Amino acid sequence: MKKLITVNNRSYNWPSKTTVIICLDGSEPGKNGYIEQAIEMGFMPCMKEAINKGTYELGKCAMPSFTNVNNLSIVTGTTPNIHGICANFFYNPEEKKETLMNDESFLRASTIFEAFENEGAQIAVITAKDKLKKLLGKNLKKSICFSAEKADQANLKDSRIENVLEIVGKPVPEVYSADLSEFIFAAAVKILESNQKKIDLMYLSTTDYIQHKAAPGSEIANSFYQMIDGYIKKLLSLGCKVAFTADHGMKAKSKADGTPNVIYLQDLLNNEFGKNSTNVICTITDPYVVHHGALGSFVTIYIDDKSKIENIKNFIKGIKGIDVALTKEESVKQLYQPSDRIGDLVVTCKADYALGKGVKDHDLSQLKEPLRSHGGLDETSIPIFVSEKLNENYKKKKQLNNYDIFDLALNYDE
Ligand SMILES: [Zn+2]
Repeated sequence: MKKLITVNNRSYNWPSKTTVIICLDGSEPGKNGYIEQAIEMGFMPCMKEAINKGTYELGKCAMPSFTNVNNLSIVTGTTPNIHGICANFFYNPEEKKETLMNDESFLRASTIFEAFENEGAQIAVITAKDKLKKLLGKNLKKSICFSAEKADQANLKDSRIENVLEIVGKPVPEVYSADLSEFIFAAAVKILESNQKKIDLMYLSTTDYIQHKAAPGSEIANSFYQMIDGYIKKLLSLGCKVAFTADHGMKAKSKADGTPNVIYLQDLLNNEFGKNSTNVICTITDPYVVHHGALGSFVTIYIDDKSKIENIKNFIKGIKGIDVALTKEESVKQLYQPSDRIGDLVVTCKADYALGKGVKDHDLSQLKEPLRSHGGLDETSIPIFVSEKLNENYKKKKQLNNYDIFDLALNYDE
């Protein structure tokens, strides 16, 4: 009899074979997307064939279109109002200060891994950056779970694997590199090949270093996706079912002269409403800002005098490049935000703009290439791929989301 695992009000079939689910960070899809362009230009021969044999669709990610928010949406099958991770960086009302949301204690829902592990599944989770490892690995006791960034520190107690560098045959990759993502795939293949224990579910989460740097169809992007194509081929040849999605898309946000096209919202609000009346928080801010300078397309704003909220909202709506300005209540309803972890307003900008705090708050000296970033509604398109033809019932879903990828990969066998 088929075993059904239920977590966060969704049920998942036990994998019929080793199922590898991949989050291809920042893989903006569509006609001019990374994968489509790489396929068209001949860099992904395996994917070209696999799309014909399998299922490929476009879907949406959760808001804000950030990495941690969406990785946690994917692995819980839910939205931020349920799992609680709505930012990299937020104003913590309990501590009354701005802080990172990296700690696993912020996660309010169980992961699909935890539920499967409890029923005896063999699981391996490999992430690029260590910031995600703790969140993804919350409550796991038997599953392999480590980051490429700190692969040398993986040990049996914490990661249920050791000697990762020897196993993979590669040194610890640089954190800002394509190698960081490649290491994940190389490790995945080695773990599956070594076959010490049959893996039921594997989750691989890459980093968007390349996508922040290079546009779809560019030489750098094509060679990155060519590398991925090679590993997908290996995973398929090992007999795995392979599925992927992305945490968010990615858009170019620079002016013709190459400088970032930024709306410095805190400066504009200070001018209009006085210095300490608002606090703009760029929730994309994390310890790894080299590739985006903490500039994304989403901010939240705390306002002391609640009677001014509507006024400020209307002022923001009139700024060129702004997409939406929502009150807390509206963002809870429309964008599934956790009300206790966002400010009085939520603001997003259009694709070719970025939102900043004040000019003085962003160190852009590390930005080597024209800014590409994400966070808003214009960066919510994501690819959805499963290496097998799914039964047609999945088409009855009103909307395909990245956080449906486990459901699609496990529940729609023909
Ligand atoms: Zn990302």
